[in-house]
Amino acid sequence: MPESIPFLSLQHQHEPIEEALQAAMQRVLKSNWFILGKELDHFERVYASFSNTQYCVGVANGLDALILSLRVLGVKEGDEIIVPANTFIATVLAVTAVGAKPIMVEPRSDTYCIDETRIEEEITHRTKVIIPVHLYGRPCNMNAIMKIAQKYELKVVEDNAQAHGAIHRNKMTGSFGHCNATSFYPGKNLGALGDAGAITTDDKTLYERLLKLRNYGSTIKYYHDVTGVNSRLDELQAALLSVKLKYLPQWTEQRKHLAKLYIEKLQGVGDLILPKSDPEYTHVFHLFVVRTFFRNELQDYLNNFGIQTLVHYPLPPHLQQAYAHLGFKKGDFPITEELAQTSLSLPFWPGMDEEMLDTVSDRIKRFYDGK
Ligand SMILES: *Cc1c(COP(=O)(O)O)cnc(C)c1O
Repeated sequence: MPESIPFLSLQHQHEPIEEALQAAMQRVLKSNWFILGKELDHFERVYASFSNTQYCVGVANGLDALILSLRVLGVKEGDEIIVPANTFIATVLAVTAVGAKPIMVEPRSDTYCIDETRIEEEITHRTKVIIPVHLYGRPCNMNAIMKIAQKYELKVVEDNAQAHGAIHRNKMTGSFGHCNATSFYPGKNLGALGDAGAITTDDKTLYERLLKLRNYGSTIKYYHDVTGVNSRLDELQAALLSVKLKYLPQWTEQRKHLAKLYIEKLQGVGDLILPKSDPEYTHVFHLFVVRTFFRNELQDYLNNFGIQTLVHYPLPPHLQQAYAHLGFKKGDFPITEELAQTSLSLPFWPGMDEEMLDTVSDRIKRFYDGK
């Protein structure tokens, strides 16, 4: 009998707080003020405080947050930006959107995050910024990365889209870089009910420039100091995010608990490689990703029992059609390519029924029993 377990359920997150979400929506409706108002001011204050940074600037989405971070740091055509080869394509799209060149670095095969020991060899006189991505909710080695940046006078923009609330040695991700981009896409650990993003920083000058950049280059209406864009986080999404932010710590605890259960149940099963824990890094498990050389077969098998899984990500940025003109070829980033072949994200969300998690784990065991 098919079990029908979805990959992700936002319903379980929203149902228990529906009244508070409705009240926030009602408040915005009644205020008749929808763009750049007190809901956004409030969210920016509470998110900056949550992130342990001085400032937060709400923007339209995570990709814009990355693009505006690079623009505010003065990145221009011909500059080189160090990015992980193993990431969601938005990280790379931001670099090419400002005319800069992405210099890709392989991940560590134990954490899947950028390999900090391979960054230095890619630095040239053109390098301007390093963009570490805390992939799947696992912090990069930020201490090492900040040291390299300091040594070569580079800027750092964290891509914190998958890691709200993650911690490396008592410091929040999203508070290390000169400015840091995040996304509140609905499926992220902190998600809006639509598109939204933000930039966090401790630098007042960058903050003030970002306020202009996101709003047509203007702080005084109809006077434009720079060629900005329209990338604002609207009042409705800001009000909803302020409600949801209060629950984020508890959702993070649920994610960690469920990840621990999966790890207990799947330890030693078949050829599975499970996420590793490390006391210096608080992994907030945006996704629960396992690896297996039988990936496609396992995915099909689970699918036949109604268990939905996804692959993050099946084709790395350097092999995408969109970047054919950059001249990369298969084999250029073997670790990244192997991760794309072997990774599988299991059903996972805060509040997931533990029985469902058992069902998924048992199915996976049975798959390997038949091998
Ligand atoms: C989701 C995501 C983004 C982009 O965020 P959007 O809000 O969808 O534009 C950027 N980087 C990473 C690592 C992401 O996971």
